[in-house]
Amino acid sequence: MKVVTVGTGMAAAEFVERLRLDGFAGEIVMCGDEEFAPYSPCVIPFYLAGEPLETVYWKGSDFYGRYRVTPRLADPVVEVDAERRLVRTASGRSEQYDRLFYAAGARSWYPRPDWLDTRGVFGFKTLSDMVAIDRYIREHNVGEAVVFGGGFIGVDAALALWHRGLAITLVHRNTRVLSQMTDEEGGQFATAKLVEKTGMDIRLRTTVADIVTTGGELSAVRFSDGTARETKLLIVAIGVSPNSEPLRGDDKGVPSDRQMLAEAGIYAAGDVAVTPHAVTGEAGVYATYPNAMRQARTAARHLLNGDGSYAGSVNTNVLKKHIDFPIVSAGSFTGEPVTWQRGDVWRRVYLKDGMINGYIIIGDTKMSGYVYQLYVSRQRVDGTIRTILSSPRHDAYYRQVTGCGAGRASGRGYGMQGVMAG
Ligand SMILES: Cc1cc2nc3c(=O)[nH]c(=O)nc-3n(C[C@H](O)[C@H](O)[C@H](O)COP(=O)(O)OP(=O)(O)OC[C@H]3O[C@@H](n4cnc5c(N)ncnc54)[C@H](O)[C@@H]3O)c2cc1C
Repeated sequence: MKVVTVGTGMAAAEFVERLRLDGFAGEIVMCGDEEFAPYSPCVIPFYLAGEPLETVYWKGSDFYGRYRVTPRLADPVVEVDAERRLVRTASGRSEQYDRLFYAAGARSWYPRPDWLDTRGVFGFKTLSDMVAIDRYIREHNVGEAVVFGGGFIGVDAALALWHRGLAITLVHRNTRVLSQMTDEEGGQFATAKLVEKTGMDIRLRTTVADIVTTGGELSAVRFSDGTARETKLLIVAIGVSPNSEPLRGDDKGVPSDRQMLAEAGIYAAGDVAVTPHAVTGEAGVYATYPNAMRQARTAARHLLNGDGSYAGSVNTNVLKKHIDFPIVSAGSFTGEPVTWQRGDVWRRVYLKDGMINGYIIIGDTKMSGYVYQLYVSRQRVDGTIRTILSSPRHDAYYRQVTGCGAGRASGRGYGMQGVMAG
């Protein structure tokens, strides 16, 4: 049997590794649009912040050789022909498959794609982006940057560049940064603390209206409030869309069933896949590393043994990078809020029918693995949640006294210690 993957990213690498470790001896071809060994996008901001490039190769830079994979790189797949069971690439090449693993991830979305023609304007999604930004900063001696977008990736970008020593202006259209992973109050708390701890200039309810160029290079950015800032570097991180066109003809993602099958012979997983939420059942793209890993393992198990069923995704968000100020959240921010705050620490759980409907933990997240387990296991917590939120204790304590604690989906171990521990 010949297996082909579209994508060489986190889901595809996990899938291939599982196949080989579980004895799959057939041919494997991995098709990618970049030229690298599989890397962890979660970790690439650390490279920009000063870590060595090797640290991004989360399963080793010798991945293809070690797992007997034929890589077809720097040549994007443009079409999946499910009838003939082959994929076609931009260079005109085609690759036949018996089973296809479709994991093409997502790409940055740009309000004005023509901005990218200007030297000094970059996305913040791929290792190619990071290598280009790093080179540009060094060659142009860049000391400040504007980051457009205050969501998870925008804040990650801002913190990585701040850690590198750049002065940052972060522009976000919402009333607070991280607006998808916080409620209003939690987001404003996080925004104020980020300003306090980093000195960043965070401009809310603002967007980048236009850029100013001089000789093809960025020289300034104009904001929607009428002000402007001179800068040589603009990072655009305002959203992503799934790379589902080659399979589905649109960018709405690829619906997968409980075996991660999109259609006969084709698995889809990772940031391109549409899956049910483990708690609410709501279908969506839940673009996190732990979901991608569990989906890839489910698909590998199904291909090898014909069994296994995906339990669903969880919309966990874990920002623990570049600064000692972690922010963790999951679920829906509706229901009865229970809040605890002291100094730099802010914790809130939303209760519905006595169970956790969603939570936001900021500043000290030691017990977030335990809260996560309470959330996904649907335990009643109305009698204990106030004590838990005010507790200075760590997950390990709760694991010991209850036998319950940080689970696999908390996402440990994708490259750099502590990046995403739940
Ligand atoms: C900067 C950044 C930080 C992040 N931090 C975190 C974090 O802290 N925690 C967390 O849980 N998640 C984080 N994520 C998200 C996480 O990286 C993704 O959820 C995960 O990588 C999903 O795996 P994937 O294989 O679906 O996508 P990817 O790992 O992105 O891989 C997609 C692959 O498809 C390839 N590809 C795309 N189009 C084509 C094509 N047409 N033909 C062939 N190949 C193609 C790409 O080159 C790539 O190899 C972060 C993402 C970014 C960008």
